[in-house]
Amino acid sequence: MKLNDILNKKEFTKDDIAFLLSLENVDDVESLRAKAEDLLLTLRGNKVYFRGLVEFSNICTSDCYYCGIRKSNTAVERYQLSKEQIVDAALWCAGQGYGSVVLQSGERTDCAFVDSVVEIVREIKRRSVSNALPDGIGITLCVGEQTEETYRRFYDAGAHRYLLRIESTSPEIFSRIHPEKQSLGNRINCLKMLKKIGYKTGTGVMIGIPGQTVQDLAKDILFFKELDTDMIGMGPYIVHRQTPMASYENDVLARYDDIFRMSLKMIAVTRLVLRNVNIAATTALQSMKPDGREQGLTFGANVIMPQLTPTDVRKNYLLYEKKTCLDENAEQCRSCLTGRIGSVGRVVAVNEWGDRPL
Ligand code: SF4
Repeated sequence: MKLNDILNKKEFTKDDIAFLLSLENVDDVESLRAKAEDLLLTLRGNKVYFRGLVEFSNICTSDCYYCGIRKSNTAVERYQLSKEQIVDAALWCAGQGYGSVVLQSGERTDCAFVDSVVEIVREIKRRSVSNALPDGIGITLCVGEQTEETYRRFYDAGAHRYLLRIESTSPEIFSRIHPEKQSLGNRINCLKMLKKIGYKTGTGVMIGIPGQTVQDLAKDILFFKELDTDMIGMGPYIVHRQTPMASYENDVLARYDDIFRMSLKMIAVTRLVLRNVNIAATTALQSMKPDGREQGLTFGANVIMPQLTPTDVRKNYLLYEKKTCLDENAEQCRSCLTGRIGSVGRVVAVNEWGDRPL
């Protein structure tokens, strides 16, 4: 089958997806990019949605082998923002016209943590209601695997989106990059619980893990589709040297450009397969190439997460090394990203949650 026939499909097989992800010829990749961008503009328009990102704590009880803030990394200085700092950051966001905020932290399941998140979500919801945002600011949580009861408590408090990356749907890769006590089955169960409760549910994968094939990535995209995912946050795998996966560094560096290009192709193909889904152009893309996020937008992404984490602790929230945007304050980050979005002909949505349409 010719490339154009596949690009014009509405339903894609695993082989179609693998074929598109395998494109190497510059003109072919440009055809894929143009089709994904065109579909995005047709279905969702040219708006880019800001989700202000507050990384409120780097304390984590898990030990994912790729992650720089895993509990066994004793070189990291741990921090926890106060309730006031978190609420103030979210209210600043609402005041700037951002429709949404993302509260992200390492994984903790203890009562004190869960209670504090519930309280913070409630407070942000209550205080962000205004004429511009009659239902308050949209709140996304990204605090890992929790029980169904905890997910319900967060939802009832006012969080309506949840981001839980699966990282890879390949059982072999998942078990290679996580300790034994973390299972792919439980991650999938958590995602199903989130959907059942009513969350707009987001997931995503790391691209470029050694040994990962195009077939693995094609299965990941089919998983997003099967789950009826609302939001996708995925990005290139970048090595953190204070992790058990540090030995992959040379292999990953040797494939640097391939990994970047595959990350863009993943955005484009996910756009074609999931059509009106929200897809983030992640900071990890910009950490690989200075215009990485703009390229992500032109390949079909429509969400950007400006930094709101205080600059004095941001350097301690490094899931991967060489992360960009560590020194800019929230105001500088907003204006930089607005410029980057404008440079590719897109506009920032103001006071909109920007959920995937039903
Ligand atoms: S990826 Fe998340 S859960 Fe895993 S160690 Fe890092 S912060 Fe903790």
